[in-house]
Amino acid sequence: MSAPGTDLLSAFPAFYELPPSSAPSSSDEDTWYLLAQIKENMTLTKPTLIVTDRKGVDFAVTFDDALDLKARGFRKGRTLVAPRATREDREEGKKAIVRIGRGCAGDVKVIPGGLEQVSELAFLLAGSDGLGQKCAACGATEGSLSKCTGCATAAYCSKDCQVKGWSELGHKSNCKVIRSIRDIWG
Ligand SMILES: [Zn+2]
Ligand SMILES: [Zn+2]
Repeated sequence: MSAPGTDLLSAFPAFYELPPSSAPSSSDEDTWYLLAQIKENMTLTKPTLIVTDRKGVDFAVTFDDALDLKARGFRKGRTLVAPRATREDREEGKKAIVRIGRGCAGDVKVIPGGLEQVSELAFLLAGSDGLGQKCAACGATEGSLSKCTGCATAAYCSKDCQVKGWSELGHKSNCKVIRSIRDIWG
């Protein structure tokens, strides 16, 4: 995709904002991403994850493909990214789910960070005054800024600021999340 569109909230719908799977599929230009934090691996017969969306709603994501979720990095506390996910409403008494159809498991990504961290960074990266325009530690915009070699995104005015950003300001944890977000959304 190109970076998330102008309407970020509709680009990242919560579970009950997803279109129902019975709805006619929309045009290819319309892309949205379900972001949800992995809570549990509940695989019995089909690969299944219990996840939580940004509104705190828990639901199951099942995969029609046979795959080893653990080996693919789908672990507790991380964030799952499912493009063009739909909600499958089932008969009364059974909770709705998200079903990843056959051949589509490869489109579903995982980001090594929690949902809150991922959302914050994704919004920041999508914004026009995102990272990289000023020193991520002291805010300096003057002089030459060098980019972090890990994520090629966060910028620093000096070695001192880079060290401070990494250890005190949390870039150590954000760096790999930013890298994953950029791998997915460019
Ligand atoms: Zn600085
Ligand atoms: Zn970095």
